[in-house]
Amino acid sequence: MSVSTPPVFKFDNSYANGLEGMSVPWNPAKVPAPRLLRLNRALAQELGLDPDALASEAGLAVLSGNVVPEGAQPVAQAYAGHQFGGFSPQLGDGRALLLGEVIDTQGRRRDIAFKGSGRTPFSRGGDGKAAVGPVLREYLISEAMHALGIPTTRTLAAVATGEAVYRERPLPGALLTRVAASHIRVGTFQFFAARQDTDRLRRLADHVIARHDPSLAEHEDRYLELLRAVCERQAVLLARWMGVGFIHGVMNTDNMTVSGETIDYGPCAFMEAFDPDTVFSSIDAHGRYAYGKQPGIAQWNLTRLAEALLPLIDTDEDRAAERAMAVLKTFPDRFSHHWLAGMRGKLGLPATGDVDADRDLVNDFLALMQRHAVDFTLGFRRLSGVLRGQPEPLQALFGAEAEGLAAWLTRWQARLGEAPAAEVAQRMDSVNPIYIPRNHLVEHALEAATESDNLAPFEALLGVITRPYEERANDALFAQPASAEQSAGYRTFCGT
Ligand code: AMP
Ligand code: MG
Repeated sequence: MSVSTPPVFKFDNSYANGLEGMSVPWNPAKVPAPRLLRLNRALAQELGLDPDALASEAGLAVLSGNVVPEGAQPVAQAYAGHQFGGFSPQLGDGRALLLGEVIDTQGRRRDIAFKGSGRTPFSRGGDGKAAVGPVLREYLISEAMHALGIPTTRTLAAVATGEAVYRERPLPGALLTRVAASHIRVGTFQFFAARQDTDRLRRLADHVIARHDPSLAEHEDRYLELLRAVCERQAVLLARWMGVGFIHGVMNTDNMTVSGETIDYGPCAFMEAFDPDTVFSSIDAHGRYAYGKQPGIAQWNLTRLAEALLPLIDTDEDRAAERAMAVLKTFPDRFSHHWLAGMRGKLGLPATGDVDADRDLVNDFLALMQRHAVDFTLGFRRLSGVLRGQPEPLQALFGAEAEGLAAWLTRWQARLGEAPAAEVAQRMDSVNPIYIPRNHLVEHALEAATESDNLAPFEALLGVITRPYEERANDALFAQPASAEQSAGYRTFCGT
């Protein structure tokens, strides 16, 4: 029996205390038989928490929601949102709670929140619960994203609750502890804008500025500048998603943060064979959130944020709209800039040079991958082999008949010029992952945990995808795309 020291959180709750009327105090539901599935010890340490205390009985009591730790002020946050284009004026934390905020060891303010902690006043018809599968999926993908260097919410812990949750059938229940720079979404602004509550809207904006853009606090046009800052963060984020083949799957405005972190790992998945029309989510019948549509959707969402901010931007409505529009119009160029920077890195190109020529070079490679249904991750990763005098793995991906590949490689190498090949190859390998959370492996891990309480595949996969860049002979199976049979008709579900 482990020594049971309760974990000590040094909470400093600016949201619950500073923003009256933006959340509802609420307690997590009690659960019958909590069991720790996984604790993220490194993240615990980063947060200034004692991992052993979190792993103890007293820690488990906290991570399961059975005991509210000292200093926590759990609240359900209010938000609205456009879901698949349609506006819901009230969504809110229906199965989540913000426990409180801590200042981490690097001085950053981080939210600590539960997902799956039971019903709240925002639950509508839902049960407020989560199942083991979706909780472990969020753990895997969020930690893989972090390891890939992509801004994201993190996962501190996954706990099995010992009770069943009822979806199409009974499933083992679980609870996730999520860590975020904040949980403030485009939809949080929409909530107050929809109610014409300009006073709370302004206080929310000031809170966000203090938290994410403190340099704007004294700016004369701080709300317009806040919009610009969120546009820039989302442009960076979307470029990063596109660079690893990530498909969020449910880019509703309530699932887009103002911090620029990826949030809400529901039906997300990584693309394998390159095709911009790829969609995995079972509820995205019209491909609204397909891989290639994501940057446009981000801009659409930011337009909804701009609309919400209008009353703060200028007292004159027309002028406010004009100024907001001018900022929104910068989004495509911001995105393109970051996209090209990322793609240049992936191809080992210098950061400067002829933009149009480099853009063509990238797009021609993508077109080749699409034509030959090449795995997005491996297509980029195997390019460095060419520079090491080992072109065969790349050629094998494209197939013997691959028309156009040789000509493209010649153009690419001409662009690389005299750059030392070994160094370029090494740089490429440091930005082109070899391991991503492959859909069939994720499904296998979740199934083993759900059906047989076997966490070994989850642990193995987590270990591999959190070290994505360094190729290991022993992990060769993890780098392989799904078989045609496995990927045919692959669908993801929200798990709600
Ligand atoms: P999501 O699709 O996960 O972004 O959720 C959209 C909305 O549905 C949010 O307001 C969630 O809180 C709510 N929701 C999702 N699942 C549940 C559930 N099991 N119980 C209650 N509310 C839920
Ligand atoms: Mg959500």
